[in-house]
Amino acid sequence: MRRRGRKSRYIHKNIRRIVLIALVVILGSVVLRTGGSFLRQSRSLLSGVNQADTSLGWNLILVNGDYAIPDDYELELTELSNGKKVDSRIYPDLQEMFDDARLGGLHLFVREGYRTWEEQQAIMDERIEEYKKEGYSKQEAKKLAEEYVAEPGTSEHQLGIAVDINADTSGSSSDEVYTWLDENAYKYGFIKRYPPDKTEITGVNNEPWHYRYVGEEAAKEMKDKNLCLEEYIGQLKP
Ligand SMILES: [Zn+2]
Repeated sequence: MRRRGRKSRYIHKNIRRIVLIALVVILGSVVLRTGGSFLRQSRSLLSGVNQADTSLGWNLILVNGDYAIPDDYELELTELSNGKKVDSRIYPDLQEMFDDARLGGLHLFVREGYRTWEEQQAIMDERIEEYKKEGYSKQEAKKLAEEYVAEPGTSEHQLGIAVDINADTSGSSSDEVYTWLDENAYKYGFIKRYPPDKTEITGVNNEPWHYRYVGEEAAKEMKDKNLCLEEYIGQLKP
């Protein structure tokens, strides 16, 4: 066989170069396409969920299974004496409510305040694991967990204007604390966010410990007319 001439070697080298460039281009586009679909996927995790409306003011933002916290939501936090954090804007009223409850002889504490997205996700994951340990399939476990835990982005705790209040049971019973809150929280701008007679509307089971700040005016009207936040907001909007 005749050895290839200089011209043939030159062509051969160029073909190799073209093949190499083509490979890089093809590989690159595969990587880009994978990256693209990954981004879309992570965003569509909350598909079907609109961003919450902030036009009525920070205290009347409605966050639930249908409305997620806006991406650009900003808040400033104040740390409580037990390390829990709340939105600084609700702190004075929260403190006053606790001072008055304690003057009335109640023993209570903020069990949960502000939560980060990661903390909400961890709570969800933990609950799913618990159901899986009970023998449910991954899919069933997720569905069950979602009945009790809000999906990240849809929990009021991520807003910092909701608190879970528990009794310190060495001094008060849960009943005593929940009853006092039910009767008095509105005076300080807080509402029982998930009452037992509104589960159909809120989509959340009775939570006598979860209080949400809406401000005194709204809280009083909601208390007087027995409206949950979804109903109250619906009434404000045309
Ligand atoms: Zn809560």
